[in-house]
Formats: sequence, C-alpha cells, structure tokens
Amino acid sequence: MSPFTRENSLADTLYTRALVRAAEIQGSTQALASLLRVPENTLLRWMVGRAQMPLQAFLRTIQLIADDERKQAPVPRAGDAPSDKLRFKIGELEARCERCDGHDFVQTDPSMPLRYINELLCCGCGNRVVHGNLIAQLAKDAVYHSKALTVQRQKRTAALLDKSRKLRGVQSATRGDGSILPAEGQPGKKTGG
Ligand SMILES: [Zn+2]
Repeated sequence: MSPFTRENSLADTLYTRALVRAAEIQGSTQALASLLRVPENTLLRWMVGRAQMPLQAFLRTIQLIADDERKQAPVPRAGDAPSDKLRFKIGELEARCERCDGHDFVQTDPSMPLRYINELLCCGCGNRVVHGNLIAQLAKDAVYHSKALTVQRQKRTAALLDKSRKLRGVQSATRGDGSILPAEGQPGKKTGG
C-alpha cells in the first residue's frame, strides 16, 4: 500500500510534490505526519491538495528533502540535458529573481536532476539562488499574497456594505434626485417574463 503515489494526487503543486517526496524519504505518510506533528488524515488532505498546508510545515518539508539530498550523490539524468527554462509557481504567484524580478531560471548544471540544494541561475541577470531558498521565499510570498487578497476582499465587501447603507440613507432622504443613484441595483424593478 502506498497512499502517496502520484496517481492518488488530485493536485500537482509544489506542496503536494514536496510532500510525496518527503513521505518517500520517511518511508510512510504516518512517519511524515508524526515528524510534522499533524494527524495523518490532515497530512493526506495536504497531499491531495484538499487543504492548504501551513508555511512552517512546508518549510520543514523542504528542509527534510534538502537534508536527504545532501546525503545522496546525485545521479545524472539519462540522455540529453534539458535546456528548458524553469519557472516555479504557487497558485498564480511566480518565483522571481530578487535582483532583476525575472521569472526564468536554469540549472547551473542541467545534466543533474533538479534538487533543492542545487543552485539556479536567473536567465535575466545571471544571479545565483539556491533552489530550496527560492521555493521557500515563494511560499512565504504566497502566504503574504493570500493574506493581502483576503484583506482586499474584506475591504471591498466593507466598501460595498458601506455604499449600500449610505445609498439607502440617501434614497430615503433625497428621493427624486437621480444623479446620485446608480443605474443598476435599483430595488423593486422586476420585469416579468
Ligand atoms: Zn535576475
């Protein structure tokens, strides 16, 4: 039984991929769950992308994989080295070079497998960054980004509520002055069809 095979994953993200790898290193999802100090069910929900894992757990997972990578000699890829540019995404957020803001990266040694402990080169400016650090930074940005989105949404909702509250007040106070009433959203106008 291997509950962490790729086929079982509903979502294929940096999070789910890292968890699959970490579970393989630990030998079981149970072992990884106890390492991350969460119930196994919670871990399984993270692994299939049904729940968002917390940042600290993700950083711990990357650390675990990086530690394992340091122990193993990398096995060069079979066949031609891919010269593809690499991009890293969490949701709609892309990892960026801290120096030039570029999105595209290449491995310093493309003949090696992509590992967290290896360095990447920014295609834009040649800046070097450790892959694991780039992903950790992206995950931090993603948390900040989703918080910012929530705040934005809350502000929009509050503004809408405020607007409709004011509108109701204005409507009852100065009925007949159409200039401040919006064209849409006037109550009581239903066209029967
Ligand atoms: Zn750059």
